[in-house]
Amino acid sequence: MLYGSNVKINPLITDLASLSNEEIKRYSRHVLLPEIGLDNQQRISNAKVLVIGAGGLGSPILLYLAAAGVKELGICDFDVVDETNLQRQILFNGLSIGKDKAVEAKEKINQLNPFVKVSVFNELITAKNAESIIKNFDLVIDGSDNFATRYLLNDACVILDKPYIWASIYRFDGQVSVFWKKYGPCYRCLHPEPPPTNMVQTCASGGVLASMCATIASLQVTQALQLITGVGDVLIGQVLSYSALETSFRKIEINRDPNCVICGKNPTITSLIDYEQFCGPVKPRKDPGIKPLELKAMLEKRKNNELDFTLIDIREEPEKNLVEIDGSEFINKDEIYAQDGLTLIPKDKPVVLYCRSGNRSTEVMNFLQHNGFLEISHLEGGIVAWVKEVEPNKVSY
Ligand SMILES: [Zn+2]
Repeated sequence: MLYGSNVKINPLITDLASLSNEEIKRYSRHVLLPEIGLDNQQRISNAKVLVIGAGGLGSPILLYLAAAGVKELGICDFDVVDETNLQRQILFNGLSIGKDKAVEAKEKINQLNPFVKVSVFNELITAKNAESIIKNFDLVIDGSDNFATRYLLNDACVILDKPYIWASIYRFDGQVSVFWKKYGPCYRCLHPEPPPTNMVQTCASGGVLASMCATIASLQVTQALQLITGVGDVLIGQVLSYSALETSFRKIEINRDPNCVICGKNPTITSLIDYEQFCGPVKPRKDPGIKPLELKAMLEKRKNNELDFTLIDIREEPEKNLVEIDGSEFINKDEIYAQDGLTLIPKDKPVVLYCRSGNRSTEVMNFLQHNGFLEISHLEGGIVAWVKEVEPNKVSY
């Protein structure tokens, strides 16, 4: 079997949908493409696609698939819309804030194309529900932002023999690939092990350029339409890597690992495992920390020499420049993780850490506790909670 460049596949969808004149008119700019034609539009209109995550990637993925006229879209997302999503999650607007993403997404899709059936899974996809959700769809597109979900989707797709269209975006960089055991390697062949949790950065902590989401998501949708119709070469056995700063695309060949634990010769994984244990939690668990008003009282006591402690801002510099808590020291978390980083943390007095929302500070707190620092706590809810409760005149993000 050929891996790498120019992988041609048979059309994923073999049965053709019958289309009304109204639908043929709507999709006529597809039908006019010689490579697509009426028969391939009939395949598209018979395809059932599951999209995981209705966020930065999920928004354009869902909108383009709806416009292209697939038969059914499954939307799996457990989150609600918040203000910081609106910079890139183009399914939503100011009125969506506080509402369920999956439900909001369904409404937008219905407005765009009433011919598309939308199934909402307003829940986190886990080892418990993944197979029962995925088995009803022809392919899976990943718009998630965490490793536990990626390994889960990969494994479920290998087990169920479904194509898995993966992507990842971070800051100015994005990557796309198609994993399908039938034709090539899987995600575990590329990444056998998840990165350590302290190395994981997400869009929430590292930022992402708005239009990066559209670039990468539309590559994913194009791959989906190619899989459905069998038209053109698909990214099986290849990772397409995009750098917005360099304005460049690169293709990297990947091979099936014969010792892959799920798609290799002697697989050791034959059913879904505990992915949060394997990769770390999808959302870091909330540890009880110091509440904003408690910290405010502590800072006042420190001012009056009634209490001594160090408040450390562990975020990235652009975040600090946006907003910070007066009286804090800035030590970025990567500096703490670096060699000799522990010497930066005082051992002779209590330390309070803070980040944006409390996730990174929980992680660094655990790391320091493991390394013998006993008087470590963190600001629960991070500076977002602080601004809300203590200094509402400051910027939140
Ligand atoms: Zn594999």
